[in-house]
Amino acid sequence: MKFIRLFLFVVCAPVLAATGVEKIRISTFSSILTEVAQQVGGDRVEVISHVKPGTDPHDFEPKPSDLRAVATAQLVLLSAKHMEGYVGKLEEATGTKGAIIRVGDQFPSLKLSVQHGDHSHDGEDPHWWHSIRNIARATKIVRDELNKLSPADKTTFNTNASAYLAKLETLDAWVKNKVAELPRDKRKLVTNHDAFGYFAREYGFTVMPIAGFSKNDQPGSKKTAELIQAIKAAGVKAVFSEDVANPKVIQEIANETGAKFGGSLLSDGLGTGEGGTVEGMFKRNVSTIVDALK
Ligand SMILES: [Zn+2]
Repeated sequence: MKFIRLFLFVVCAPVLAATGVEKIRISTFSSILTEVAQQVGGDRVEVISHVKPGTDPHDFEPKPSDLRAVATAQLVLLSAKHMEGYVGKLEEATGTKGAIIRVGDQFPSLKLSVQHGDHSHDGEDPHWWHSIRNIARATKIVRDELNKLSPADKTTFNTNASAYLAKLETLDAWVKNKVAELPRDKRKLVTNHDAFGYFAREYGFTVMPIAGFSKNDQPGSKKTAELIQAIKAAGVKAVFSEDVANPKVIQEIANETGAKFGGSLLSDGLGTGEGGTVEGMFKRNVSTIVDALK
């Protein structure tokens, strides 16, 4: 009897390990989607975050180690709206094994003026995560993909997603409440690069961007002069820098206009420390903006 029990244990244990415990491997290329995947997947998933908080997703290029991880992932989550110019490399790495989901492509885009040297053209604004409504949409997309991958875990994923969606609703209420401290005519946002279009639309701000699309753009002198005029005319009290951008230009604008330097915002995804979560990012950005413009 003792022998049989031991025999059953030895034979059955590896089977259980293979079917019951193995986690779904997710590769994400957006710090926002890393949080969403962890929240929805819980302990049923292993999330590999390729674009770490505090790094610039516009400049990211996958290394061989990233591609090796992607090759074994069952789900690859992309920010998209043309953010990942290297998507071809990822497709090559995964073959047909893992699903590559362009999350941001599944909800509507705002247009953005893209600056190329001395001319500009309209492109899709990739910064969708500054709308909490879009993060909620992303949550439902990730939930549905996980349900497809592991129908046995459907209840867990649905419950986790509902809890996270409720958190996002609470956060949205907090943001609306904070923004309400600011009269509508004071909701003017001057930042380094044009990352806050979705935020502006959601909460009634007007964006006055210094450069067009890339944070590395330097404004031409004509453009700078026009912006300085516009800032003075609108009576904007403060202008803002962004964590991943050089604050020099914005400080010059502040000096020229008499507006104060309002602080630094998280524009291209989660940061570190207090801005390391979606909630932390919104609370830091919104408090910085509202308190400086009041
Ligand atoms: Zn950006």
